[in-house]
Amino acid sequence: MSQQIPAFFIADAPGLDFLNSVATPIDRPIDWIDDGEGLLAWLGQSRLVPAEVLAAMRERAMPGELDRLADQTRSLREWFRSFVRARKGRPLTGADLRELEPLNLLLARDDAFGRIVADVQEGQATLRFERARRWSSPEALLLPIGEILAKLVCEEDFSFVKACEGPACTLLFADHTRGHARRWCSMSACGNRAKQAAHRHRVKTGT
Ligand SMILES: [Zn+2]
Repeated sequence: MSQQIPAFFIADAPGLDFLNSVATPIDRPIDWIDDGEGLLAWLGQSRLVPAEVLAAMRERAMPGELDRLADQTRSLREWFRSFVRARKGRPLTGADLRELEPLNLLLARDDAFGRIVADVQEGQATLRFERARRWSSPEALLLPIGEILAKLVCEEDFSFVKACEGPACTLLFADHTRGHARRWCSMSACGNRAKQAAHRHRVKTGT
Protein backbone atom coordinates (compact mmCIF):
# COMPACT_ATOMS: atom_id res chain seq x y z
CA MET A 1 0.00 0.00 0.00
CA SER A 2 1.13 3.59 -0.33
CA GLN A 3 2.25 4.83 3.08
CA GLN A 4 0.94 7.99 4.76
CA ILE A 5 4.42 9.09 5.80
CA PRO A 6 6.58 10.19 2.83
CA ALA A 7 9.64 8.02 2.17
CA PHE A 8 13.13 9.20 3.17
CA PHE A 9 15.38 10.89 0.63
CA ILE A 10 18.15 12.00 2.97
CA ALA A 11 21.05 9.84 1.76
CA ASP A 12 22.60 12.32 -0.70
CA ALA A 13 22.87 9.34 -3.09
CA PRO A 14 19.82 7.86 -4.86
CA GLY A 15 21.14 4.27 -4.57
CA LEU A 16 21.23 4.63 -0.79
CA ASP A 17 17.80 6.29 -0.73
CA PHE A 18 16.59 3.05 -2.31
CA LEU A 19 18.06 1.06 0.60
CA ASN A 20 16.36 3.51 2.97
CA SER A 21 12.93 2.62 1.51
CA VAL A 22 12.51 0.46 4.60
CA ALA A 23 13.06 2.34 7.87
CA THR A 24 11.72 2.98 11.35
CA PRO A 25 10.69 6.66 11.43
CA ILE A 26 8.99 6.43 14.83
CA ASP A 27 8.54 3.12 16.58
CA ARG A 28 7.62 0.52 13.99
CA PRO A 29 9.39 -0.37 10.74
CA ILE A 30 7.76 0.89 7.54
CA ASP A 31 8.47 -0.68 4.16
CA TRP A 32 7.51 1.77 1.42
CA ILE A 33 7.83 -1.02 -1.16
CA ASP A 34 5.64 -3.56 0.64
CA ASP A 35 3.48 -4.24 -2.44
CA GLY A 36 2.87 -3.12 -6.03
CA GLU A 37 1.09 0.11 -5.10
CA GLY A 38 3.89 0.93 -2.66
CA LEU A 39 6.46 0.35 -5.38
CA LEU A 40 4.67 2.71 -7.78
CA ALA A 41 4.35 5.34 -5.04
CA TRP A 42 8.04 5.09 -4.13
CA LEU A 43 9.14 5.28 -7.78
CA GLY A 44 6.99 8.40 -8.13
CA GLN A 45 8.39 10.06 -5.01
CA SER A 46 11.95 9.25 -6.03
CA ARG A 47 11.27 10.75 -9.52
CA LEU A 48 12.92 7.76 -11.13
CA VAL A 49 9.90 7.06 -13.33
CA PRO A 50 7.59 9.69 -14.91
CA ALA A 51 4.06 9.80 -13.45
CA GLU A 52 2.42 8.97 -16.79
CA VAL A 53 4.52 5.80 -17.14
CA LEU A 54 3.48 4.73 -13.62
CA ALA A 55 -0.18 5.35 -14.44
CA ALA A 56 0.11 3.31 -17.66
CA MET A 57 1.78 0.43 -15.77
CA ARG A 58 -0.97 0.41 -13.15
CA GLU A 59 -3.53 0.26 -15.95
CA ARG A 60 -1.83 -2.48 -17.97
CA ALA A 61 -0.55 -4.82 -15.24
CA MET A 62 -2.11 -8.26 -14.77
CA PRO A 63 -3.59 -8.95 -11.32
CA GLY A 64 -0.78 -9.63 -8.85
CA GLU A 65 1.93 -8.69 -11.34
CA LEU A 66 2.99 -5.49 -9.59
CA ASP A 67 2.95 -7.20 -6.19
CA ARG A 68 5.33 -9.85 -7.53
CA LEU A 69 7.51 -7.09 -8.96
CA ALA A 70 7.57 -5.45 -5.51
CA ASP A 71 8.77 -8.82 -4.07
CA GLN A 72 11.60 -8.83 -6.62
CA THR A 73 12.42 -5.22 -5.82
CA ARG A 74 12.72 -5.98 -2.11
CA SER A 75 14.98 -8.99 -2.87
CA LEU A 76 17.19 -6.74 -5.02
CA ARG A 77 17.23 -4.17 -2.20
CA GLU A 78 18.21 -6.63 0.53
CA TRP A 79 20.87 -8.27 -1.67
CA PHE A 80 22.34 -4.84 -2.40
CA ARG A 81 22.10 -3.85 1.28
CA SER A 82 24.40 -6.74 2.29
CA PHE A 83 26.83 -5.70 -0.47
CA VAL A 84 26.92 -2.11 0.83
CA ARG A 85 27.02 -2.96 4.53
CA ALA A 86 29.95 -5.34 4.00
CA ARG A 87 31.96 -2.73 2.05
CA LYS A 88 31.10 0.70 3.39
CA GLY A 89 34.04 2.58 4.84
CA ARG A 90 36.57 1.54 2.20
CA PRO A 91 36.95 2.23 -1.52
CA LEU A 92 35.59 -0.43 -3.88
CA THR A 93 38.07 -2.24 -6.14
CA GLY A 94 37.97 -4.49 -9.19
CA ALA A 95 37.72 -7.44 -6.82
CA ASP A 96 34.21 -6.33 -5.86
CA LEU A 97 32.96 -6.67 -9.44
CA ARG A 98 32.27 -10.41 -9.26
CA GLU A 99 29.71 -9.87 -6.47
CA LEU A 100 27.93 -7.31 -8.65
CA GLU A 101 27.12 -9.80 -11.42
CA PRO A 102 23.37 -9.92 -10.56
CA LEU A 103 23.25 -6.16 -11.04
CA ASN A 104 24.97 -6.42 -14.45
CA LEU A 105 22.39 -9.04 -15.47
CA LEU A 106 19.60 -6.62 -14.58
CA LEU A 107 21.27 -3.74 -16.49
CA ALA A 108 21.66 -5.95 -19.58
CA ARG A 109 17.86 -6.15 -19.87
CA ASP A 110 17.57 -2.41 -20.52
CA ASP A 111 16.29 -1.21 -23.86
CA ALA A 112 17.32 2.36 -23.41
CA PHE A 113 17.88 4.63 -26.37
CA GLY A 114 19.03 8.16 -27.06
CA ARG A 115 17.06 10.91 -28.77
CA ILE A 116 17.30 14.57 -29.66
CA VAL A 117 14.67 16.84 -28.13
CA ALA A 118 14.01 20.57 -28.39
CA ASP A 119 14.00 22.71 -25.24
CA VAL A 120 11.96 25.84 -25.79
CA GLN A 121 12.80 28.82 -23.62
CA GLU A 122 11.41 32.30 -24.25
CA GLY A 123 10.43 31.26 -27.76
CA GLN A 124 13.97 30.04 -28.57
CA ALA A 125 14.48 26.32 -29.10
CA THR A 126 17.79 24.58 -28.37
CA LEU A 127 18.49 20.94 -29.11
CA ARG A 128 19.50 18.54 -26.39
CA PHE A 129 20.50 14.86 -26.31
CA GLU A 130 18.34 12.84 -23.92
CA ARG A 131 18.36 9.25 -22.65
CA ALA A 132 15.00 7.50 -22.77
CA ARG A 133 13.72 3.96 -22.32
CA ARG A 134 11.02 1.74 -23.82
CA TRP A 135 8.79 0.80 -20.88
CA SER A 136 7.81 -2.44 -22.58
CA SER A 137 6.76 -4.37 -19.44
CA PRO A 138 6.37 -3.74 -15.70
CA GLU A 139 9.81 -5.36 -15.15
CA ALA A 140 11.25 -2.30 -16.88
CA LEU A 141 10.44 -0.41 -13.65
CA LEU A 142 13.45 -2.17 -12.08
CA LEU A 143 15.85 -0.69 -14.65
CA PRO A 144 16.11 2.85 -13.28
CA ILE A 145 16.71 1.27 -9.86
CA GLY A 146 19.49 -0.86 -11.37
CA GLU A 147 20.95 2.31 -12.83
CA ILE A 148 21.10 4.22 -9.53
CA LEU A 149 22.71 1.20 -7.82
CA ALA A 150 25.30 0.95 -10.59
CA LYS A 151 26.00 4.68 -10.33
CA LEU A 152 26.42 4.34 -6.57
CA VAL A 153 29.14 1.69 -6.90
CA CYS A 154 30.88 3.49 -9.79
CA GLU A 155 30.66 7.13 -8.72
CA GLU A 156 30.42 7.19 -4.94
CA ASP A 157 33.52 6.88 -2.75
CA PHE A 158 32.54 4.00 -0.45
CA SER A 159 35.02 5.34 2.14
CA PHE A 160 32.31 7.85 3.04
CA VAL A 161 29.25 5.63 2.81
CA LYS A 162 28.02 5.51 6.39
CA ALA A 163 25.27 4.12 8.57
CA CYS A 164 23.52 6.57 10.90
CA GLU A 165 24.90 6.27 14.44
CA GLY A 166 21.41 6.33 15.97
CA PRO A 167 21.23 3.09 18.01
CA ALA A 168 17.93 1.91 16.48
CA CYS A 169 18.34 3.65 13.12
CA THR A 170 18.99 1.68 9.93
CA LEU A 171 19.43 4.61 7.50
CA LEU A 172 22.48 4.83 5.26
CA PHE A 173 23.93 7.93 3.62
CA ALA A 174 26.88 9.25 1.64
CA ASP A 175 28.79 11.78 3.71
CA HIS A 176 29.54 14.68 1.36
CA THR A 177 30.23 17.19 4.15
CA ARG A 178 33.56 18.95 4.26
CA GLY A 179 35.80 17.00 6.66
CA HIS A 180 33.38 14.06 6.39
CA ALA A 181 31.91 14.70 9.81
CA ARG A 182 28.31 13.66 9.17
CA ARG A 183 27.15 11.12 11.76
CA TRP A 184 23.36 11.15 11.55
CA CYS A 185 20.61 10.54 9.05
CA SER A 186 19.30 13.97 10.06
CA MET A 187 20.09 16.44 12.84
CA SER A 188 16.38 16.80 13.61
CA ALA A 189 15.88 13.05 14.19
CA CYS A 190 18.81 10.95 15.41
CA GLY A 191 21.21 13.90 15.87
CA ASN A 192 18.79 15.56 18.21
CA ARG A 193 18.09 12.37 20.18
CA ALA A 194 21.86 11.90 20.66
CA LYS A 195 22.21 15.49 21.89
CA GLN A 196 19.39 14.99 24.41
CA ALA A 197 20.88 11.68 25.60
CA ALA A 198 24.29 13.33 26.09
CA HIS A 199 22.61 16.15 28.01
CA ARG A 200 20.74 13.70 30.30
CA HIS A 201 24.03 11.85 30.89
CA ARG A 202 25.78 15.12 31.86
CA VAL A 203 22.94 16.04 34.27
CA LYS A 204 22.99 12.58 35.88
CA THR A 205 26.76 12.47 36.33
CA GLY A 206 27.09 16.16 37.15
CA THR A 207 29.69 16.73 34.41
ZN1 LIG B 1 19.22 7.97 12.05
